Amino acid sequence: MSLAYHCPKCDALLNPNVRVVLVARFGPKQGIVLMSSQPGNYQVICDMGFCHEVAKGDIIEFKCPVCHGSLTSETHKTFAELKIVNTEKEDNNTCLLRFSRVSEEHATFLYDGDSVREFGEAANLFSDTMTIEGDWGW
Ligand SMILES: [Zn+2]
Repeated sequence: MSLAYHCPKCDALLNPNVRVVLVARFGPKQGIVLMSSQPGNYQVICDMGFCHEVAKGDIIEFKCPVCHGSLTSETHKTFAELKIVNTEKEDNNTCLLRFSRVSEEHATFLYDGDSVREFGEAANLFSDTMTIEGDWGW
């Protein structure tokens, strides 16, 4: 599956290669993080000067590296959101990816318009609140 990740604010492509490039902020510290473009893969490459400031359970703010817009979900405040397009599908259906902003909390939800897929061992904690909401579309 070939997924293109886009900023929901400015539409910039955030994975020019295999990694998704985001700006992470915690308190006064900011750093670049490179996330896997596979939903459910929580391997992160991170600026150690930043990562060393973050402990399990801390809530990170993610920002677009292009427009610096916050990626925090408006409806689920401890989650961040990105747009995903499956570039191998003919209709290029745009999906919503929502992932936990809590450090080391592995919960990711992928909405493709009529279904929700869960990833991560903490996802079941949020299943009830992550049902399909009619209007997340763009
Ligand atoms: Zn942006």
